[in-house]
Amino acid sequence: QFDDMIYLDKLATVSEMAASFAHEIRNPLTTVRGFVQFLSKDTTDENVKKFAPIILEELDRTNKIISEYLTLAKPASFQLQRVSIDDILYTSVHLLSPLGTMTNVSLHLYTEGKSDVYGDSHYLKQALLNVMKNGIEAIEHGGVVTIHKTVDEKEKEVIITIRDTGKGMTKDELKNIGLPYYTTKSKGTGLGSMIASRIIRQMGGTMAYESRLNEGTTVTITLPLYEGD
Ligand code: ADP
Ligand code: MG
Repeated sequence: QFDDMIYLDKLATVSEMAASFAHEIRNPLTTVRGFVQFLSKDTTDENVKKFAPIILEELDRTNKIISEYLTLAKPASFQLQRVSIDDILYTSVHLLSPLGTMTNVSLHLYTEGKSDVYGDSHYLKQALLNVMKNGIEAIEHGGVVTIHKTVDEKEKEVIITIRDTGKGMTKDELKNIGLPYYTTKSKGTGLGSMIASRIIRQMGGTMAYESRLNEGTTVTITLPLYEGD
């Protein structure tokens, strides 16, 4: 366990450094993107026509990785306060509904019991969005993502389950989830799950995956209930 602590400390320093590099890298990236776009506009050069979209796509992917990494490496701005988990769930579902519609996935939200948690609403939303988005992306030919929120008064916790009728995961795939850069998607970053579980853990909660191949996946998140007042 002592080894773990040392490792975590090092990781924090590395993340801080990486975060500042990431910021620096972004500016030239934006410039390069602008020029590639400019050069490829109205061009008659076949090679430029052919490769410019690939360059732009890869630049966007790089940018996406940096964005997701930055949110991961910035725990300093974490602000824990009383937040309504219902509000956050409603907003997140609302934000993702268009993506669902596009891929023939409907999102259903059921909330039971009133509940506030002690958390950071911005990061909490980010964590839930990442998990819900994975649920939507796991569905290939239409399906449902069902989100349930209940309260366990005895354990003083909120339980959120996010279940999808998607392609599910094998035992081996399930082991990899949450490892940095593990992705099975051509345009994935492999950071979403890790970021989500980190955020939940930083708020004193837990996150667990259950999955069955070709049937779907259920993600269970628990968060401590707000007990002030
Ligand atoms: P990304 O979504 O960019 O691939 P994530 O960290 O969010 O990165 O997810 C990592 C991988 O875990 C995904 O590529 C996918 O293979 C698997 N995964 C995550 N959530 C689900 C899910 N709900 N159903 C099936 N596979 C999933
Ligand atoms: Mg994801």
